[in-house]
Amino acid sequence: MKSQEVRAKFLDFFKEKSHLIVPSAPMVTKDDPTLMFVNSGMAPFKEYFLGNGTPKNNRISDSQKCLRVSGKHNDLEEVGYDTYHHTLFEMLGNWSFGDYFKKEAIAWAWELLTEVYGIDKDILYVTVFEGSDDADNLKMDQEAYDLWKELIPEDRILMGNKKDNFWEMGEQGPCGPCSEIHIDIRTPEEKAKVDGKTLVNEDHPQVVEIWNLVFMQYNRKANGSLEGLPNKHIDTGMGFERLCMVLQDVKSNYDTDVFTPIIREIETITNTEYNKGEKTDIAIRVISDHVRAVAFSIADGQLPSNNGAGYVIRRILRRAVRYGFTFLNKKEPFIYRLVDVLSKKMGTAFPELKAQKQLIENVIKEEETSFLRTLDQGLLLLDKIISKTDSKEISGEKVFELKDTYGFPEDLTDLILREKGYTYNSEEFNQKLKEQKERGKQASQVKSDDWTILHHDEVEEFIGYDTLEAHVKITRYRKV
Ligand code: ATP
Ligand code: MG
Ligand code: MG
Ligand code: MG
Repeated sequence: MKSQEVRAKFLDFFKEKSHLIVPSAPMVTKDDPTLMFVNSGMAPFKEYFLGNGTPKNNRISDSQKCLRVSGKHNDLEEVGYDTYHHTLFEMLGNWSFGDYFKKEAIAWAWELLTEVYGIDKDILYVTVFEGSDDADNLKMDQEAYDLWKELIPEDRILMGNKKDNFWEMGEQGPCGPCSEIHIDIRTPEEKAKVDGKTLVNEDHPQVVEIWNLVFMQYNRKANGSLEGLPNKHIDTGMGFERLCMVLQDVKSNYDTDVFTPIIREIETITNTEYNKGEKTDIAIRVISDHVRAVAFSIADGQLPSNNGAGYVIRRILRRAVRYGFTFLNKKEPFIYRLVDVLSKKMGTAFPELKAQKQLIENVIKEEETSFLRTLDQGLLLLDKIISKTDSKEISGEKVFELKDTYGFPEDLTDLILREKGYTYNSEEFNQKLKEQKERGKQASQVKSDDWTILHHDEVEEFIGYDTLEAHVKITRYRKV
C-alpha cells in the first residue's frame, strides 16, 4: 500500500466516524511561547483541552507534522542510528473533545489496524496503565483492560507504568492513562533466538510502538491533586512512517516509499549505495531525514538563523552537511538538490512544499555553502595547528578554540586528526567545554514537560555535542 493511500485510508476511516478532517497546523508555533515546534498531534488543540475555546467539531482527525528535536521529546540523537525515530514525522490522530471515550477509541483503533489495513492480529500487543502507589494512588486502568480483553488474548496485554502509560500535559491541566499499541515484525528466526519471547519496549528495531491512545479523564490541579474531568477527551497519535513500514512489509521506515525516492537521489548525487556499509547508511539516513525537517520548516516560514527556532533548524541542517562531508565525501552543496524529489513526493499532501520550493532550495544551498566554507577554514586551521605541534597529541584547548571560535565540531576534528595519525587531549577539551557551559548557564531551570520554555543553552546542548564516532560503532535500538 502506497503511503498516500495509507494516509488517505486513515482520514477516510475517521471521516466516516463523523470526524472533521483538518489540515496539519504549521509545525512552527508562533503563538505559544512554551513550545518551539509542534511535537505531537494534540499540540495545536491544546487550548481546547484546557477549556479555552471550542473546536469546530467535537471529533477531529488529521495528519500533523511534528518535530522532536528539543525539550521532553528530543529524538535527534537516535535519528540515523535507529530506523524508526525521525526528527520530522507525521502523526496521524483522532480526537474526541468531550464526546466519545475509551470504548470507541479502542474499538476503532483495532478495527482500522486489523480490518481496514489488514494487519495480522497476532503481531499486535497493547499496554495498559498499571496504576501507581505514589501520592496519586491511581488504580489500574481496568476499563481499558476489559475493552482490550474482548479483542486480544490477555497474554498480549501488558502493564505499563506511569512513565510510559500516564500522560500529562504539564504540571497542571488535563491528564490520564494511555494504552499503546505495539507491533512485532521480527522474522521467525529472530524470534527463535529469544525463544519467541514478547519484546515490547525492548531493544529490537522491529518491535516498535505504533499508536498511542490517551484517555484524558483527570485534571491536575494547582495544588498537585487530581480531580475527575466532567468532560473526558480522547487524544491519539500514530506514527505514519512506522505504519507505512508495517504495511509495506519492510523492516525500516527508510525502506518505505516515504524515504526511498530521497535515498535514491542521495545515492545518485553522492555516487554511493545504501545498505553497503554502516557509516554510509547512517549518513544517508541522517540526510534523508534532516532534509525533510529543514524543508518543512522553511515552508512553514521558519528560516535558519542564529537564535531560537531558526537556530535549531540551522543546526539540523549543519548536522546533515557534516555527515555528508565526513562519510559521503561530499564537499560541495548537494542537500538542496533533494528538495525537488521531496516536493514531488510530498507536495500533494503538503502543498506548502510545492509553493515554497524555490525558496527552500535557495535557502538550503546558501546555508550549505557557508557551512562548507567554515569546514574548509577549519581544515586549514587544523593543518596549521598540526604543523606547529611536535607531539602526536593536540591540546584540548586548540580543539575547543576551533569549535568555539570557528564552529568546527570536535567530532570532525577528532576524525580528521585520527586519519592523520594524531589524537587530542579530550579531558582538557571537556574541561573547557564545562567551563564554558557553566559561564553560559541561565538562572532558570529547564523543565521537561510537554510544554516548557526553551532556553538558548539547552538548544545549544541538544545538538552541539552529539558524538558521531561513539555511535557509529553500535547500532542503537529503542530505549527501554
Ligand atoms: P517512542 O517510545 O517510540 O519514542 P513515543 O512514546 O515517544 O514513541 P508518542 O509521544 O506516544 O511516542 O507519539 C505517538 C506515536 O508517534 C508513537 O506511537 C510513534 O508511532 C510515533 N513517533 C513518536 N516519536 C517518533 C519519531 N521520533 N519519529 C517517528 N515516529 C514517532
Ligand atoms: Mg519517544
Ligand atoms: Mg513510547
Ligand atoms: Mg507513546
